[in-house]
Amino acid sequence: MASSPPETAQPVLRFAPSPNGRLHLGHALSALTNERLAAQMTGRLLLRIEDIDRERCTPALEQALRDDLAWLGLVFERPVRRQSEHFDDYAVALGDLRRRDLVYPCFCSRQQVRAAVLAEEAASGRRWPVDPDDAPLYPGSCRACGRAEAQRRIAAGEPHVLRLDMARALAAAGGELSYVLIDAAGQASTVAARPGRWGDVVLARKGVPTSYHLAVVTDDALQGVTHVVRGRDLEAATDIHALLQRLLGLPTPRYHFHELLTDETGRKLAKSRQSESLADLRAQGMTAVGIRQMLGFGSAAGSTP
Ligand code: GLU
Repeated sequence: MASSPPETAQPVLRFAPSPNGRLHLGHALSALTNERLAAQMTGRLLLRIEDIDRERCTPALEQALRDDLAWLGLVFERPVRRQSEHFDDYAVALGDLRRRDLVYPCFCSRQQVRAAVLAEEAASGRRWPVDPDDAPLYPGSCRACGRAEAQRRIAAGEPHVLRLDMARALAAAGGELSYVLIDAAGQASTVAARPGRWGDVVLARKGVPTSYHLAVVTDDALQGVTHVVRGRDLEAATDIHALLQRLLGLPTPRYHFHELLTDETGRKLAKSRQSESLADLRAQGMTAVGIRQMLGFGSAAGSTP
């Protein structure tokens, strides 16, 4: 069973955007859903800046993001946690997993992984299994690389990432994994987590000594987050989070996944697709009240529609 925080604790929610582009309406929906649920539960509302990707995240984008949220009338508790200031915390979690031999170095480039998968598909005549994001599962080429060989390659400066050995991790976790899901009607149910469908996920890479998965579970625990409210696009990844929480002895928050906004072609809004930003809408004369109303959140900050 998931070890959830006690029901009696004051709820703690967080909005956790990445400053790697301008915020769009989808982010506004996520932030406002967090605000509404925090108000309904008399909970605390935190802002966390998820800026582990030091190449794509910039101080200017973080400032723009904070300006957009303030313009929307969102008020968060201080201090704001900025992930790039806490790499040491993620290193402790990673070190714990490494000591237990649950992580291994992988020297395969993306092209090598793609080539190995294509070769397997050609040999078997079957499609190679994919993860919930439709990416081919890592074929495991480096899993069997002995410790001495891996040390030699690392010492020689070969670029590598660190992957979770999913089979060993599942064995170490022992037993069923689950988390409590709160649906749109506020009903709670326990859902089974199946992290195995993600294969050997990357937990750290060159230049970024952690991954989204490791940082998010570490921070949710350190910040005492009791309710994670985020888009449905992160529902499947929650299985990995439940596994990491079990392995690291962290509590598993309750989860609510809100629907995603889509564009006129039916695809979810994304910074990478240059979806119209809140700043664009503001420049076109849209008001914060207008955005709140458009997304179904009444008109005033903190109001419960
Ligand atoms: N930083 C993630 C994003 O911007 C969200 C993380 C989360 O809510 O767990 O998509």
